[in-house]
Amino acid sequence: MSEKEIAWDLSEIFSGCDDPKISVTMNALLEDADEIIKKYKGTIDSPNFSSLDLLELLEKEEKILADVEEIKVFSDNMFYANMTLLKTKTLDNKIKDFHSTISKKLAFLEIEIGKLIYKYPSLIEDETLNNYNNYLLIIKRKFPFKLSESEEKLILEKDQYGTNAWQQLKESWLSSRKFKVTVEGKEKIVSLSESNSLRWHPNRETRISATKSVFSSIEKEIEIYASALRNISGDWVKITNHRGYKNPIHHSLIRNDTSQVIINNLMKIIEENVSIYQRFLKIKAKLLNLPKLGGIDTWAYLPYKKKYTWNEAKRLLLQIYDSIDKSFGDIIRDLFNKNYIDASTREGKLGAGYCFPWYNGKSAFILLSFKGLLIDICTLAHEFGHGVHYYLSSKEQTFLNYMPGPTIDEIGGTFGELLMFDQLRKTNESTDEKIILLTNQLTAGGGGIFFASACMWFEQSLYDAIEKGEYLDGNTISKYWCAARDRIFEDFVDWFDEMKVNWVVIPHFYFPNDRFYNYPYVYAQLFVYALYQTYKQKGKEFVPKFKKFLSAGGSLSPEELGKIVGMNITEPDFWQFGMNQFKEFVDELEKLIN
Ligand SMILES: [Zn+2]
Repeated sequence: MSEKEIAWDLSEIFSGCDDPKISVTMNALLEDADEIIKKYKGTIDSPNFSSLDLLELLEKEEKILADVEEIKVFSDNMFYANMTLLKTKTLDNKIKDFHSTISKKLAFLEIEIGKLIYKYPSLIEDETLNNYNNYLLIIKRKFPFKLSESEEKLILEKDQYGTNAWQQLKESWLSSRKFKVTVEGKEKIVSLSESNSLRWHPNRETRISATKSVFSSIEKEIEIYASALRNISGDWVKITNHRGYKNPIHHSLIRNDTSQVIINNLMKIIEENVSIYQRFLKIKAKLLNLPKLGGIDTWAYLPYKKKYTWNEAKRLLLQIYDSIDKSFGDIIRDLFNKNYIDASTREGKLGAGYCFPWYNGKSAFILLSFKGLLIDICTLAHEFGHGVHYYLSSKEQTFLNYMPGPTIDEIGGTFGELLMFDQLRKTNESTDEKIILLTNQLTAGGGGIFFASACMWFEQSLYDAIEKGEYLDGNTISKYWCAARDRIFEDFVDWFDEMKVNWVVIPHFYFPNDRFYNYPYVYAQLFVYALYQTYKQKGKEFVPKFKKFLSAGGSLSPEELGKIVGMNITEPDFWQFGMNQFKEFVDELEKLIN
């Protein structure tokens, strides 16, 4: 790491947390939102509301939303780079309030536009609204499950003290716990967030100590965590029935712009290929000199000694993106030249990395804490992959269309990681290094594909139990957890008994209105593997298509995006095509160790 601080420059947006322009902009936006309410509320659902009227409204909405996003870009980035400063905390709070106020003001738009296009679906096909085709289709799909305005308001208010409060109770209780862990021989008292990395520590004894300490302590209080999960899941079953969804997963299919058939195809491929993952687990046990892999080893990376300087990392990054196409490399250079990267480690900075899109700037900001480790190099490639995606889509699309949907959003980042992985494999001559790189790639990819599938099965089994009238106490939930987990791991892994409460530390199960958060990971990982394989087979011919795919952002459905790169994602074989890449990596690893 060079001594010079690598901090981003946000002054193109505002000069600082105390810039008076922030309040002026916020007030102007609130006035603009009030104007929209005055002009449109209660008037949209009418046969006289023409396609031109709708176009004008959507353009006005986009202008407000893009400016609101820009304020958030500034305040979030200021906050996450320095979370302990009073001025960044104050601004963050203020902007969160502002964001919730303006979102509530504009919430009627989706309901009223939904009602309009549900009644007059031919509007969607109207030439004038071409740009918003996919956006309107999603709104139309959501509409039949909306309740009246007063019911929706009531649900929001009840959620605040109901499901949201259960989630909050669980999260704040869990994060207040302290655990005694022996870290490389020394005893330490750690919080849950500190214990997370210790559970996958390169030192096996540390992993054992952290895992046993965290899960045995959770087990003693299991009924608190079970109550929260039982109530959040039970509420979901009631509310989705009330809204008329076919089943608990239906809502997520609309959110993810996908269908039950596609998800069934996807999960079938997982079941059919579980043995490939199990083959990898056996190899990993051998690499760790164990007769059988432990649950504590499934996610652990093999230690990699080599370290990188910031300049080396930058060079690698430019190399991989230039190798696809110079225009990709130019995007990376532009992000560096404009100082949109915050890479220094500093106290009070967010631990994880992220890429924040910035529509008005037609660009993105990247945050990570670079220490020169392999994991940092991979994070860097991942976040810049997102950066390239947002950079291209914000240039080509308007605000409502530029963000890729949830199943597509991880594609840019994961593709970037695979490119980096390729580059590192090429430049590292030794077999040992190659083995470590491959094992770590399969550990991450296997988690995204197989472990996330077990998470989905587990969640489904909770709803099935609720429908059968079963009472979900801690033991019952743990029983379902182990059953779902064992469908993947069978007897290839030994789990400590305490690990049956693993479901408690996975935050996704507690998201009140974003249920079934896990299968999009499976979807995205196999989709990326399919794209990556196509890139390897077709080379340069693939690049303009891939660029078009990324530039489309969220303006097309995943199915249409697939067509751009010559893939039919509705065919069951499509997911197998992605899975073949995973298998190829396992075969390669097997050859290297033999
Ligand atoms: Zn990502």
